Amino acid sequence: MTNIYGYTMTKPTTDPLLNYDRYHIWHPYSSIGANHPLWRVTSAEGVRLKLADGSTLIDGMSSWWCAIHGYNHPTMNRALNDQLSQMSHVMFGGLTHDPAIKLAKLLVDLAPKSIETVFFSDSGSVAVEVSMKMAIQYWHDKQQPSKQKFLTVKNGYHGDTFGAMSVCDPVTGMHSLFSDTITPQYFVEAPHCGYEQDCSDSDIEPMKQALIAHNESIAAVIIEPIVQGAGGMRFYSPDYLKRVRELCDEFGVLLILDEIATGFGRTGKMFASEHAGIEPDIMCVGKALTGGYLTLAATMTTREISQTISSGNPGLFMHGPTFMANPLACAAGVASLELLTSSDWQETVQNIEIRLSEGLAPCRELECVEDVRVLGAIGVVELKTPVELADIQPKFVEQGIWVRPFGKLVYLMPPFIMSDDDLKVLTQGLYKVLCHHNG
Ligand SMILES: *Cc1c(COP(=O)(O)O)cnc(C)c1O
Repeated sequence: MTNIYGYTMTKPTTDPLLNYDRYHIWHPYSSIGANHPLWRVTSAEGVRLKLADGSTLIDGMSSWWCAIHGYNHPTMNRALNDQLSQMSHVMFGGLTHDPAIKLAKLLVDLAPKSIETVFFSDSGSVAVEVSMKMAIQYWHDKQQPSKQKFLTVKNGYHGDTFGAMSVCDPVTGMHSLFSDTITPQYFVEAPHCGYEQDCSDSDIEPMKQALIAHNESIAAVIIEPIVQGAGGMRFYSPDYLKRVRELCDEFGVLLILDEIATGFGRTGKMFASEHAGIEPDIMCVGKALTGGYLTLAATMTTREISQTISSGNPGLFMHGPTFMANPLACAAGVASLELLTSSDWQETVQNIEIRLSEGLAPCRELECVEDVRVLGAIGVVELKTPVELADIQPKFVEQGIWVRPFGKLVYLMPPFIMSDDDLKVLTQGLYKVLCHHNG
């Protein structure tokens, strides 16, 4: 039996735990019972994942952008142990605690100047939901209740819950499957100007036309700044983002920047908005916020928006997760941000950028490769045709590296602590696998 992706249904392996997993547990974007290759991790240390068979893999993914300090970091561990001995959780309604206050202060101090308030939530998708609700509530309290829609670009990714999904790329986000449930939003062509290029009038024109036509029903433009992540690993011109900011001001629309993937140094700046020198009205952070230790995200906004919502009707922001500002997660956030800001992270990320550029350059010569691009600690090899994950992933594991491509994209975003030697093993391993793939 095969499913639509051509995976054959699995035959039992010799590992009973893996067998249980395959028949009972959903993984991200997976199916039950299919023969997805799956490896059981027993521990992780520094930049290495240790597998059940005793072998180790150099982690090229930072567990999806998160583990910027690597795994089992002594400073992070100490901070979490200390917090654990105080309290692991307490409700946030009517109560507060030092980890939340300390983390909020660190975030407000690091964020663009006009960003002053913080709403903590459990995941990136929820932070995006919260940002959308904030934008709608703001306009409601400004007596413009018709502003409830969002404008965004194609190829975006903002999360998997319904509000977030509504602003993900309609094709890769499978909007057709959910067409009666998902809110229709406004989409324009993604910018074609690369990071190094200026933005031409034709690049920005679709966004401008959409705002001319629909500004009265649009609450906000929502966009990933500079790097479109899971929707295509595309880097675009800071000039485009600058023009988007100008258009939002011109047409009375808020700007939400989704910094969940780009935040905390990954692109070479603390936040990607800094490449364009602009400030958002609302920004979402998550992923690397706790250094990959626990799930936590935040939606941050300006005094103006916070005060408008707080003095409007009902005068409360209508959201409040059970695990809001979980103290353990906040303590991890504090420790991670202190580690990051006390290090020479700009130089570190710049060095990774150089190593990735050098290490991935040979891939350009391969017939199967369409493009190679690097920005900060992100390296992308775009292929001409999609890879078969079930075929290629075991080959990366054979090379001792953990790389998880999607579609045509083979990409690296290593932990910031990775040594030059390990970066070499990682990029050479990736090249070897692609050579073989090339045929
Ligand atoms: C990962 C991601 C999200 C969703 O975050 P989750 O924690 O997976 O819910 C939203 N936006 C961007 C840009 C992301 O990369």
